[in-house]
Amino acid sequence: MEVDQTRLEHEIDTLAAFSDTETPSVTRVVFSEQDAKARAWLETRLLDAGLTVRSDAVGNTFACWQGSKPDLPAVATGSHVDAIPFAGKYDGVVGVLGGLEAIRVLQRTGFKPERSIELIVFTSEEPTRFGLGCLGSRLMSGVLAPDAARKLLDDNGETLDTIRGRAGYSGSLESVRLPQGEYSAFLELHIEQGPILERERVPLGIVTDIAAPASFRILIEGEGGHAGSRLMPGRRDALCAAAEIILAVERSALATGTVDTVATVGICQVHPGAVNSIPSSVLLTVDLRDTDAERRERVQEGIFATSREVAGRRGVSISLESVNADPPAQSSPEVLTALIGACEAEGIGFRKMVSRAYHDSSFMARIAPVAMLFIPCRGGISHRPDEYSSPEDISRGVRVLARTLASLAGHAGKS
Ligand SMILES: [Zn+2]
Repeated sequence: MEVDQTRLEHEIDTLAAFSDTETPSVTRVVFSEQDAKARAWLETRLLDAGLTVRSDAVGNTFACWQGSKPDLPAVATGSHVDAIPFAGKYDGVVGVLGGLEAIRVLQRTGFKPERSIELIVFTSEEPTRFGLGCLGSRLMSGVLAPDAARKLLDDNGETLDTIRGRAGYSGSLESVRLPQGEYSAFLELHIEQGPILERERVPLGIVTDIAAPASFRILIEGEGGHAGSRLMPGRRDALCAAAEIILAVERSALATGTVDTVATVGICQVHPGAVNSIPSSVLLTVDLRDTDAERRERVQEGIFATSREVAGRRGVSISLESVNADPPAQSSPEVLTALIGACEAEGIGFRKMVSRAYHDSSFMARIAPVAMLFIPCRGGISHRPDEYSSPEDISRGVRVLARTLASLAGHAGKS
């Protein structure tokens, strides 16, 4: 497994130059002019590797290396190339250009896949333009309904349909969805975006679980009044109720007994917010994350029940509104086994870990067995111009990815 490190580095640098901000920062928002140029450049790279390239109605791009049994579900790998404002050059890109290099590595060894191997470049993993992350994989997996996608607007008030049409992607959004079983496996190579691998000096992370957030709002309405003339008995102070609820949120996350449940009240808006006025209403926004959907649901229900109890006792009214709930994902045992086997065959150390950020794999997990492979990034830094992964770490990731794709696709020459 010989990775062409020089070429891969050069390609990563070339792709980074398609940016609306100056080097070393990368700004490449989906369907912008720079995004279109980057896609066109990338397509020539994919074609040069002898892959068949097609795109769907939302601009997800598929580059296929046809196997000897093309009717079998393909093995897929991939990630994204859009970048938030003032980002670095590795997030997503390592999974796309590294995925391409993994395919070229296998081609150079003379490997002939039995199942087709496909590289997927997902549209708009970053929420920059439409306020919703993983647009392409959400539609592909059916987590986002086409009707909901059609309501998405960018900051200029333009619809997704208008914008994608202008970028050359037509056809119905309904056609983006892929059936369960379309892929026999999906693997995503990605930078860790956290400090663990570097700190522990482990070259690779094998992701077993991808955590996902749910968020909800709690609106508490009590009774305001003059902070001096309204005596304490009989007050219905919305902020005092909120204080009890905030502590209950913390307690309920701690009570699960696992570090994988995290709950945060990040917003507390107090009305009227004057020093001499009893708070009449408070809006709390809660972010609750977990690797286990059922546990997260139980914690959320517990927080809702406590909130109602506090409200009843304090004579305030309460309304609870769910804002968002993304699915956590578990890696497939078969794909994990293949990844671990590849690490062992390459003699590269690894540790199992949880992805605390969500990725396209979170959604692909709804329609295919998935797993992710993390490589270290300096200081755990991501979404910044100084994001960095070394060529050696990227190469190790590509080698293991290549070997895993080969084992999952099967060798056509084998009798
Ligand atoms: Zn990413």
